[in-house]
Amino acid sequence: MHFKQRAGSALADAKLQSVMKRFGSGFVEKRTQARAAFGVDLFERLRDEGAKLRDRGLANLDVWLLRFEAEALRRGATVLWAGDTAEAREHVLRICREHGLKKAIKSKSMVSEEAGLNDALEAHGVQPVETDLGEYIIQLAKEPPSHIIAPAIHKDKEQVSDLFTEHHRKPRLTDIDELTREARVMLREHFLSADLGISGGNFLIAETGSVAIVTNEGNGRMTTTLPRVHIAITGIEKVIPTLEDLSLLNRLLPRSATGQAISNYVSVLTGPRGANDREGPEHMVFVLVDNGRTDFLGGEMQEMLRCIRCGACMNHCPVYQTVGGHAYGWVYPGPMGSVLTPMFNGLENALDLPQAATLCGACHVACPVKIPLPGLLRKLREKQVEQRLRPRTERAAIRLWAFAATRPWLYALGTKLAVRVLRMLSSSTGVIRRIPFDPGWTLGRDIPAPERKTFRQLYAEQRSERGNQGSPVTRIGKPSS
Ligand code: SF4
Repeated sequence: MHFKQRAGSALADAKLQSVMKRFGSGFVEKRTQARAAFGVDLFERLRDEGAKLRDRGLANLDVWLLRFEAEALRRGATVLWAGDTAEAREHVLRICREHGLKKAIKSKSMVSEEAGLNDALEAHGVQPVETDLGEYIIQLAKEPPSHIIAPAIHKDKEQVSDLFTEHHRKPRLTDIDELTREARVMLREHFLSADLGISGGNFLIAETGSVAIVTNEGNGRMTTTLPRVHIAITGIEKVIPTLEDLSLLNRLLPRSATGQAISNYVSVLTGPRGANDREGPEHMVFVLVDNGRTDFLGGEMQEMLRCIRCGACMNHCPVYQTVGGHAYGWVYPGPMGSVLTPMFNGLENALDLPQAATLCGACHVACPVKIPLPGLLRKLREKQVEQRLRPRTERAAIRLWAFAATRPWLYALGTKLAVRVLRMLSSSTGVIRRIPFDPGWTLGRDIPAPERKTFRQLYAEQRSERGNQGSPVTRIGKPSS
């Protein structure tokens, strides 16, 4: 998970850069419009309630999970617990063996990506077919998703057209509607011939033992109702107490994700097909995956478990917008990935990720359940320093900084000197084009030269001015009109 190298390659990839520029603010604008249409104040209250609701669920996670299990069993489903992704894979493969399953159609499931389920199925003679259009495209390209709700966002129309021509063996199409229709035709055959459907789950509802699936393409419904076995594989933190809670979160999720008031399909699936049902699977199995989640309950990273996988944080992140999702090196990209990947895979295995953020705060402002992502990233950075996982020079610089920052006289002297040095480095145009001791800062941008006086000097001057004039001064350095 070497973000730096991957981000460097992403920046040098002209095709990716042009696609990412187009991605830019699309989702962001749609969310802004959806929020305005809902009512800004009301939406902010909804975010508060969403955060509280998720916290309530997490505070008694064991209780809600056991309630979920009891209700799901009562309605004829099977519930399997997986401590890690290896156990999750083993559960799925055993079900395939027991039922003689040979083809799995899948609707989007990030936990199945987490578990590397497709490779495991293929290795054991079960053909996995992704049916979400974006997932289908990246499966053909043999790539991981680059966005959690728009997995093929990094591909342009021509690249998709090339992939379809190669794999479908049909005349090349370039119109998006026609490409989509062709994918539908290809997928329809798989829907009708698959014996296993694998879905994720946006939420698990404890009071009814149901899984809620939110999609836009309708593939989720076919995946979960056509094959004779349905496996819903999801993280244990997805459980919420009631259907009313689902109603609240379902107001937040699509508005935050795609700017829709509601997604095209919201399915609440409860148990296998009953005696009087015309459709539905004969067997419904839940695979509930921990994979390290319980380690963070009750700890300083617990707030991350509120995540409802909407993707708003990456849509708003200037780093993600520039380098795309593959730079993050694992299943979860963007700010949420920069926190989740070190949590699940170990801080030592994701050294760059907590640094892959400007800490501008846009992710926190956009998050529907108010996860303090910048704060969590800062905590991970602190842990990196504590565990000596950052380079020696960086740790020495931080120690030096801490030494100076806790001695006001030294700090004042240091900033005075720094201002002088930076002004010496600035060109006649008032910008610094290159900082010799840390050239990375000026590789892709210029830094404005600082003012002659430091903030502390200006502040002291204005205080003494106020003392002389007896009038309140509320602003340092008034902007010129
Ligand atoms: S961290 Fe927040 S904004 Fe990001 S995916 Fe999760 S819920 Fe959405």
